[in-house]
Amino acid sequence: MSDCIFCKIVNHEIPSEVVYEDQDLIAFKDIAPLAPVHLLVIPKKHIKDLNEVAVEDEGLMGRLLSVVKKLAAEHGVAESGYRVITNIGSDGGQVVPHLHFHLLGGQKLGTKLG
Ligand code: AMP
Repeated sequence: MSDCIFCKIVNHEIPSEVVYEDQDLIAFKDIAPLAPVHLLVIPKKHIKDLNEVAVEDEGLMGRLLSVVKKLAAEHGVAESGYRVITNIGSDGGQVVPHLHFHLLGGQKLGTKLG
């Protein structure tokens, strides 16, 4: 999508600190980190949010979670623990309408959810 900021990152049209990339997925550092480790892992394909994930995307979603796990290990938080979040829609607090999974860690995270 031409006006989607994460599609622009996928297409390397705007700078980002990419930490992983393959044919279908890309991961980069969040521009406003909420924890010492704050990465975003996204499908390159423009999917708005989890509600828009189709049956044919199941393999893609599995691979995405494998990348999250690999990045957690590479960034040193696999053993200490980390959190994976995807926000959906207005009440979910989603700001960027391109499916993304936050990987947060490197400190004791709070328990506040809402
Ligand atoms: P959400 O509220 O789940 O939609 O989160 C969107 C996230 O994208 C926020 O944590 C932002 O800090 C992050 N973000 C927005 N623009 C960029 C960008 N250009 N590069 C990296 N992260 C970004």
